[in-house]
Amino acid sequence: MDDFYKQLEEMVIKGKTPKVVESAEGAYLTIDGVKKLNFCSSHYLGLSVNDRLKKAIKEAVDRYGVGTGYRTLAGTHKLHVELEERLARFKKAESCIVLTGGYMANCAAIATIIGKEDIVISDELNHASIIDAVRLSGVKTKFIYKHLDVKDLEEKIIEAKEVAKTPKTDGKAPRILVVTDGVFSMDGDLAPVPQIVSLAKKYGVLTMVDDAHGEGVLGKGGRGIVDHFNLHGQIDIEVGTLSKAFSVLGGFITGKKVLIDFYKQNARQFLFSNALTIADTAALVEAVKILEEDDLLVKKLWDNTRYIKESFKNLGFDTGISVTPITPVMLSDEDLAREFSAKLFEENVFATPIVFPMVAKGKARIRVIPSASHSKEDLDFGIKAFEKIGRQLKVLK
Ligand SMILES: *Cc1c(COP(=O)(O)O)cnc(C)c1O
Repeated sequence: MDDFYKQLEEMVIKGKTPKVVESAEGAYLTIDGVKKLNFCSSHYLGLSVNDRLKKAIKEAVDRYGVGTGYRTLAGTHKLHVELEERLARFKKAESCIVLTGGYMANCAAIATIIGKEDIVISDELNHASIIDAVRLSGVKTKFIYKHLDVKDLEEKIIEAKEVAKTPKTDGKAPRILVVTDGVFSMDGDLAPVPQIVSLAKKYGVLTMVDDAHGEGVLGKGGRGIVDHFNLHGQIDIEVGTLSKAFSVLGGFITGKKVLIDFYKQNARQFLFSNALTIADTAALVEAVKILEEDDLLVKKLWDNTRYIKESFKNLGFDTGISVTPITPVMLSDEDLAREFSAKLFEENVFATPIVFPMVAKGKARIRVIPSASHSKEDLDFGIKAFEKIGRQLKVLK
């Protein structure tokens, strides 16, 4: 056993611990007693500090207590049911199942319906939780297509159809699932959902989109990427998270009622893991209500997004190919990205560096994400700091 701990000792990187936040996470947050501009969180709509969510939590906890339980035992609370119904309606989907995270939702979405003799076709840059979900399913035949490359995807589908001609041991045809992130979180680019839908129709394969960074952001009033492309009901499995724009915790799957019923009866992440707490669920019900009422927060998010992208571009920063609020400031070199971030921190701007293995080597960056809680002055404060450090480190001329 000494050997085991010695090995770990060699692998654990000294001093590599996340910064500790001592305040609420709004437009600003406090670290080491100092107020910093919050310039990289995924609380897109500022709901983390929203008064209505806080009030909803307090009232619900006073009335219903704290915890719930296992959904299939005594843990299905009427708030869970309300949340699922509201989310389904919001997403214009037939039905919805809520789990305790986007990671859990991906695992449930894939591993419940895909077995080792089925086939998965996956974008090469898909999120780690999709990769893990595919592994969990035990599927043997996997195809990875080039990022966003519809032609390569079609070739992989054709190959998959060949493989699928051999029936499974139970005599049934293997299922083929095409799975992609909706918004890719490092570059802010979008999956070619319309083309994926066309290919799925042409070849008769199942489709899944993980819209973690699109929920609350894309589409009318934040209804997500499928709404953005007006393709309601045409993606078989839509996964979302409740921990990014919704600022709470949880994940969900929407789709046809029979699919969601099947998940509720069979998904191991649902059957063998506890449900969201009363506080989480009450806050999330309120969050969906806010989004249903109007699109003010979503509009503000996009106003801020346009402003920041334009300002960075005018200064001469390379902000990559993003078409979403995710705004990478491309720096390429890892050490430069780390130094840039450290210097921003001294200017009281909190924006973490993104380096390998989160992105490929040589593609280091700082990923800025504006939110609806930033005022124009807040954004200017951050942009000024970027300009100062950009010149200091000769990223800008
Ligand atoms: C963040 C993220 C997840 C994980 O969601 P959690 O709710 O944090 O578990 C899943 N997929 C994608 C694409 C994500 O960006």
